[in-house]
Amino acid sequence: MRDFSVRPEIQDFAPYVPGLTIEQIQERYGLNTVIKLASNENPLGTSPLVQKAIAKNAARAFRYPENHSPRLVKAIAQTAGVSEDCILVGNGSDEIIDMLFRMKGIPGKSNVVCYENSFAMYRMCAKLTDLEYREIPRDDDLELPLAAMAEAADENTAMVIVTSPDNPTGLAATVDDLSVLAGVLPKDCLLVVDEAYIEFAWPPESYSPVQAFDLFENLVALRTFSKAYGLAGLRVGYGILPPKLAALMKNARIPFTVNLLAEEAALAALEDEVFFNETLQLVMHGREYFTEELTRLGCKVWPSQSNFVMFEPPKPAQTVFKALLKKGIIVRPLGSFGLGTCIRVNVGTNAENTTFIKKLEDILNG
Ligand SMILES: *Cc1c(COP(=O)(O)O)cnc(C)c1O
Repeated sequence: MRDFSVRPEIQDFAPYVPGLTIEQIQERYGLNTVIKLASNENPLGTSPLVQKAIAKNAARAFRYPENHSPRLVKAIAQTAGVSEDCILVGNGSDEIIDMLFRMKGIPGKSNVVCYENSFAMYRMCAKLTDLEYREIPRDDDLELPLAAMAEAADENTAMVIVTSPDNPTGLAATVDDLSVLAGVLPKDCLLVVDEAYIEFAWPPESYSPVQAFDLFENLVALRTFSKAYGLAGLRVGYGILPPKLAALMKNARIPFTVNLLAEEAALAALEDEVFFNETLQLVMHGREYFTEELTRLGCKVWPSQSNFVMFEPPKPAQTVFKALLKKGIIVRPLGSFGLGTCIRVNVGTNAENTTFIKKLEDILNG
């Protein structure tokens, strides 16, 4: 086979490692039922209103969608309480992250400030765009190191990125802490808050700076339909950005990244308050149950504002992970996040949660 040359920074790229799929585990261990609690997907599945909307619009799939999804932008603006010119809808919030790196960073010159043990996308994007990746260390409890991030930012810092609620710890920064950070950053530096899990933070007014969006000049919030709205497979997310930045990004992006069915599905998901509220209720109940039970089983557990819980089991995490797989339960070991002793488990249905705890108990007592 022929070798083709690519830019040197891409030669030794560490790929994004997704969670295992149910089919892979069924095949590997000859299991009929497999429970997946590894990718923070919605335990209730896809809303019935969304399924109807997709079916209803299936015959329109031969049409191009409207560029920038203006109907969805309008609905999101209403839900989020911001003006429409702040919103940029993308192919998952991953697309907005990718665009921010490419449009805000100057290759070979800019840097991006992040912290250890965070979402792999940021490091990948920094590498791909040739930006310096400044990774701020965290203490043993993995608190979000916001003060140290502010100190690390300089006149070449394109963005400071905070995931809140954080993946994989579940910890969240308060509005007050984020406001302080936004206020001390250099003039041209954005504070990017990845709010992929913000719907699960309680009470919401303590955590999302978006409620006071007009008071910030440098805030970008990233949100997604993949988690609380159950549309991970359709790929829709959005950014809430300073309007001037949103306009520049609209001009420069490739057209039609959000497909027609995804837009209809996201519109239906915003309409379905029953499904959304059931999701929140299930998640909040489930994370409390996990926190209590995992503590009872002798695990160290991080307090979660998200739809998953991170824990450190009293036995090696890889051993526990593999034993759970054999019993048909997929969780996420966190070696790829640099947290090799920890596991992340997302809230499932009540039945799935109970099964997980029971099997884990067997493994830890075995
Ligand atoms: C899931 C997730 C996202 C969003 O993913 P998309 O499916 O691309 O919208 C973004 N950031 C973090 C930290 C996540 O966990």
